[in-house]
Amino acid sequence: MDRREFLQAGVLSALVPAARSRAAEHARNRVAGYRRLGRTGFEVSDISFGSSRLRSGQERLVEHALDRGINYFDSADSYTGGSSEQVLGKALTGKRDKVYLVSKTMARSEASVAELMGHLEGSLSQLNTDYVDVYLNHAVNDVDRLRNPEWGEFVERAKAQGKIRATGMSGHAGRLIECLDYAIDNDLADVILVAYNFGQDPAFYEQFARSFDYIARQPDLPRVLEKARKNDVGVVTMKTLMGARLNDMRPYETAGATFAQAAFRWVLSNKNVDALVISMTDEALIDEYLGASGSGSISVSDVQLLRQYARLNGTSYCRHACNDCEGACPYGVPIADVLRTRMYATDYKDLAFARAEYQILEASAAACLGCSGAPCQDACSHGLPIAELCAPAHQILS
Ligand code: SF4
Ligand code: SF4
Repeated sequence: MDRREFLQAGVLSALVPAARSRAAEHARNRVAGYRRLGRTGFEVSDISFGSSRLRSGQERLVEHALDRGINYFDSADSYTGGSSEQVLGKALTGKRDKVYLVSKTMARSEASVAELMGHLEGSLSQLNTDYVDVYLNHAVNDVDRLRNPEWGEFVERAKAQGKIRATGMSGHAGRLIECLDYAIDNDLADVILVAYNFGQDPAFYEQFARSFDYIARQPDLPRVLEKARKNDVGVVTMKTLMGARLNDMRPYETAGATFAQAAFRWVLSNKNVDALVISMTDEALIDEYLGASGSGSISVSDVQLLRQYARLNGTSYCRHACNDCEGACPYGVPIADVLRTRMYATDYKDLAFARAEYQILEASAAACLGCSGAPCQDACSHGLPIAELCAPAHQILS
């Protein structure tokens, strides 16, 4: 056994019992909080099922979530090439009336009613149902996709036919705030699904301004969430773990306070948030996550964990929708989107999902391969070395 193998074996033998005892500790966790999802009136589990990485054969995972009290299942027609919706459809057969089902489609700015109806019918068929509770315009980063009158007409018709109960938009890219403002101001959303975590919230950094050499710059996100609440728009959040490097944090965790739970408690302590969805990939993780269900506040030890995480990852994590770097690239590289898809590969360790998401971006980071990096050198307000991150991201993801 060489030194590397010896070290790996040592680390593994230390991690396996720790993981087992953590699993035992969380095994009894269940959903402890249901919240009203805005004007829909749906009472949804505060920690809910994200299925962006749900793959064929994982029906048991869905059943486990259901057994634990999760009743809100978020999907999209693009997730895992359609497998995600199919697995949900299979696992929830006979239980449709016990759950809220969500799907989404990327409605283009020139999409027609017929095209959108085709997307919806496809999802209904995959999900093995005749209606979805929430149907969202997916990953909106361009107001024209909301302005498209065909989207409005499609929603009206689908609601009248009983195929959709509520609608809205999801988003996590550079123009998120502009798009959310438009959707809320024009009454286009019953529900919004938005990237939101402690790393994006200025309030988190205000407490530690002296010990951080960078600050979050997304002052408008809390404002938009408050506006959603005032308009009785349901608010569901995603990307709540700021990159989900869970194993980085295991050495710092103590009984009853894992990093994921702390991050969720941070999100759920915002009174303008109704629920969060998190990609559920493992039964033990579901149990761990649910340890934060029912909470409405955050403890000192939670904040210490989040602070530690921010210290470890703050200089490589791109704050979704901060977008201070917009326009910095003369070659049109969508920096924030590229770094989001990179996160799926490097942090979530899901290369297939990362590549699928990268392929549907409006432009790639191919230009970074032949660029000096000078134009974007100082463009990130959080100090991220954009060129150093984007060029390898293109190589991994294309
Ligand atoms: S490295 Fe060059 S091509 Fe890539 S984002 Fe920066 S300026 Fe654009
Ligand atoms: S690269 Fe920096 S400036 Fe650009 S979106 Fe990410 S955190 Fe914000």
